[in-house]
Amino acid sequence: MTVYPLPASDLKGEGMTSQRARDRLMTSLKESGIRDARVIDVMRSVPRHHFIDQALHSRAYENTALPIGHGQTISQPWVVARMTEVLIEFGVPQRVLEIGTGSGYQAAVLAGLVPQLYTVERIEELLRQARRRFRQLGLANVRTRHDDGKLGWVDEAPFDAIMLTAAGDTVPTRILDQLTPTGVLVAPVGSPSKQTLIRMRGDGNGDFIQEELGPVSFVPLLGGIG
Ligand code: SAH
Repeated sequence: MTVYPLPASDLKGEGMTSQRARDRLMTSLKESGIRDARVIDVMRSVPRHHFIDQALHSRAYENTALPIGHGQTISQPWVVARMTEVLIEFGVPQRVLEIGTGSGYQAAVLAGLVPQLYTVERIEELLRQARRRFRQLGLANVRTRHDDGKLGWVDEAPFDAIMLTAAGDTVPTRILDQLTPTGVLVAPVGSPSKQTLIRMRGDGNGDFIQEELGPVSFVPLLGGIG
């Protein structure tokens, strides 16, 4: 597991971005049903405030989604935890693709748990900021790509797991084609007003077992690059 360095100001353990604030959030995630200790441990170590604008730092360890510019949001911590735990439930996948880098927070959480994390974002400016954050945190196992994530990442496929962090009507077939035969995919699916988190697992014979894991609210999966 990766242990992220804390800025000097945090080491005193004071203020809204302190380790104590992070610990409180982890207690609340556990109380609201997050069971996987590996996920809690890695989220305890990732500085979420590092992934949002300074003006919002005081809210970094609240259990809410927050704006990151360009009409996009950093996901709610509970949703990040839940999606991560259902992705790794059957074993830690080796090579994982995330579609929708956004702030880079979900990618950093995954990168603390899996050997190789690939992430695709269509908005260049968001990706530029996320790359800088990965560098500053010394995350050496993250590879990024500026592209339309509906295409997946053909050159690096197949992946043992794929996570979409933006919602489409369905999961594009081209993305499913980039999963290993027993791979796991987690994605929000549905219309802007009614989305469901789904998990699909390859059965090894070209079919998928699909489960619905409850309502969620994500920004839309768009086409093309921005
Ligand atoms: N995982 C992010 C969540 C960001 S919100 C985080 O932890 O902050 C979802 C992101 O998906 C947005 O940044 C949006 O630009 C991006 N997105 C939407 N459609 C996309 C597509 N087709 N390809 C790549 N990224 C996409």
